[in-house]
Amino acid sequence: MGKPMQVSRFWRHFKEKYRLVGSKCKKCGKIHFPPRQVCDECGSREMEEIQLSGRGKVISWTIVRNPPSGFEYYKPYPLALIELEEGPIILAQLTDVDPEEITFGMEVEMVTRKIREFNEDGIILYGYKFRPPIK
Ligand SMILES: [Zn+2]
Repeated sequence: MGKPMQVSRFWRHFKEKYRLVGSKCKKCGKIHFPPRQVCDECGSREMEEIQLSGRGKVISWTIVRNPPSGFEYYKPYPLALIELEEGPIILAQLTDVDPEEITFGMEVEMVTRKIREFNEDGIILYGYKFRPPIK
């Protein structure tokens, strides 16, 4: 019965790696993602860790038609700027959506998906993607 244990160990690690943790300034309340040591709004160093909801909306997007090597499997794929509910704006891949259906202000939520590791091309891709919420 070694299997359930392996799964839970994997899952714990997985969630830790891909949870959306930002930082909140204790002075002015600004929320940053990725987390920062110093607030870029007021310069305060008093920051606390905050768990972000993973919900947001699309404010801009593009269809990547020539991904770097190693990402061919996904091509073409939509890459979007997403404004999180808490304020920070992040760049992430959209999934489970027809590129034709993407609109400004479209609501999305974070999902964790299998994704290629970082490679020497230096592209910044997080270990999560966003998709329209299941209604
Ligand atoms: Zn601040």
